[in-house]
Amino acid sequence: MPKLGFVQVEVSTRCQLSCLMCPKSCFSDEWIAKDMNMETFRLIPFKKFHYAHLQGWGEPLLNPNIEEMVDIAAKSCKVGLTTNGLLIDRHIDSILKLDLLAVSVASGDARQHERVRGCSLEKLAGNIKLVSESRGKRPKIVIATMMLKSTTESLPKLIDFAAECGADEVIANNLDYIPSKELVGEEVFGLTADKDVEKAVEQAEKRAEELGIGFTAKPRLMEEALVCAENPVENCVVAVDGRIAPCAYLNLPTASETIPRWFIGRNVEVPKVYFCSFKEWLKSSFRDTFKRRLQVLHQSLPTELPPLPQPCRTCYKAYSV
Ligand code: SF4
Ligand code: SF4
Repeated sequence: MPKLGFVQVEVSTRCQLSCLMCPKSCFSDEWIAKDMNMETFRLIPFKKFHYAHLQGWGEPLLNPNIEEMVDIAAKSCKVGLTTNGLLIDRHIDSILKLDLLAVSVASGDARQHERVRGCSLEKLAGNIKLVSESRGKRPKIVIATMMLKSTTESLPKLIDFAAECGADEVIANNLDYIPSKELVGEEVFGLTADKDVEKAVEQAEKRAEELGIGFTAKPRLMEEALVCAENPVENCVVAVDGRIAPCAYLNLPTASETIPRWFIGRNVEVPKVYFCSFKEWLKSSFRDTFKRRLQVLHQSLPTELPPLPQPCRTCYKAYSV
């Protein structure tokens, strides 16, 4: 069997921050905060994947075994993680073994960053510089941000911040999961384009070109995709308890068996989707539905598109954003 794409491994669901848009902050009463144990980690078939991303809903560098985990995964595939950046200096040896390091930054404006993420931008800058100044060929350093209505204006400033820290690329993601009513309206995507958002994205693109760093902003116009960017045909998530999920959006570490979401102005609850083994996931009808949707691309005669699995119909990722 050819190798699969990526496996996302939720090595910890604990986090020292409480960012505004994080489900951990919105569902704190029922959040299950724990670290993945080594027994569970060792069962993951890294050899079957091209890439392992050691992060789920939580801060991976809080797992006390993170160094051993990086070493194990790196023997079989490329490895990366996304971090809030606060503990990079304590784990610098492991960070330098990664292929990809993504650091979450809310804005290049220190006050905006602190408002959204509740931590100092200065500390992050120091830690990112530490990596860029100590690395050889790796890791690639990516600044991951989330475009919010209230922060997008400062997107060009984030490009300056990234370049000053020695990062290679900025990726601007969408608020594609809206866990609470208070966050509705912070998304920058929709059925029509928002002029102010597009202007900020254009300015950021221009600045990135001037400074010679990469910049990608996720699409802002909603349109049903054959398969979402998470691509559950090729990729999966191993949750903190060892369950296999098609994506992180369908298996939050909460006590409930359902997931609340806000989708086009309404509150919906979707059942969690997870499997007990890789075998079960590979054979699942959930994965098969997306496979059949993708097959449409290779058919010469017009074919009816199988509908999205029910829990995906109210997920913004299914609409390309
Ligand atoms: S750093 Fe990440 S996991 Fe922690 S609260 Fe913020 S968004 Fe959530
Ligand atoms: S559409 Fe959403 S819920 Fe469905 S697999 Fe993709 S990311 Fe997960």
